[in-house]
Amino acid sequence: MIDLTGQVAVVTGASRGIGRAIAEKLHSAGADVVLVARNQALLKETSNAMGGAMVMPMDVSSADEVQVGFRKIIQEKGKIDILVNNAGITRDNLLLRLKEEDIQRVLDVNLKSIFFTSKNVLRPMMKQRKGRIINISSVIGLMGNSGQSNYAASKAGIIGFTKSLAREVGSRNITVNVVAPGFIETDMTAELPETVQKEMAASIALGRFGSTEDVANAVLFLASDLAAYVTGEVMNVTGGMYM
Ligand code: NAP
Repeated sequence: MIDLTGQVAVVTGASRGIGRAIAEKLHSAGADVVLVARNQALLKETSNAMGGAMVMPMDVSSADEVQVGFRKIIQEKGKIDILVNNAGITRDNLLLRLKEEDIQRVLDVNLKSIFFTSKNVLRPMMKQRKGRIINISSVIGLMGNSGQSNYAASKAGIIGFTKSLAREVGSRNITVNVVAPGFIETDMTAELPETVQKEMAASIALGRFGSTEDVANAVLFLASDLAAYVTGEVMNVTGGMYM
């Protein structure tokens, strides 16, 4: 059994969907979890369901908000052992119709944010010579998808970032890995047209959409001592949609 007792874990995008499931999973393994997102009411609801976890509202695409928020977390908790960069958005359109603001916003929230959050946990992790950073990418970053060039670019960027940072901090016993979910049932995928949903389901070897818990289980493994010798890796949780 995985035991994370005594470890502080920060999960971004923890107010709903995959992030909430990750936060609950780490909490049930004994970690002291801090919940990050923008919507305070939803954060509070998630926190209450977990018996009162600390919440730290912020927009992860803002360098200043991330710096202030993470400083407060470290002041309160004394350290951060596990960082899960999960916050993400889509602004889908075919390239010819994609507005510059939709390109920028998706890159800022999905990709630029992980530079900011990771930067703010590195010093404390280096000091304790241990840390786990887990970045949530997407199968779309690996295989692309029509109408999602901005999203795919941000998610592919996460993989390059992860492999580089894994090389930078490996000697300090900090691991940096990616989980790349396939089609997971959440608010994000509920927005996709039914035809797209059917098309995707047909390409999944296991014949079903994934659950948020399927993704949370992979994150739990990477956060644990069982994954001590795994770094710079991309773990696909796609039910065989992508191999
Ligand atoms: P979701 O249900 O839409 O939840 C997104 C979370 O991110 C929310 O908690 C949201 O809270 C937070 N968030 C969004 N923008 C933010 C910002 N600027 N600052 C801070 N928090 C922000 O999405 P999901 O389906 O659970 O997806 C979670 C992650 O998995 C994303 O990175 C997504 O790309 C990835 N993923 C999902 C799937 C899937 O099938 N669902 C597949 C592959 C990868 P607020 O809006 O309150 O800020």
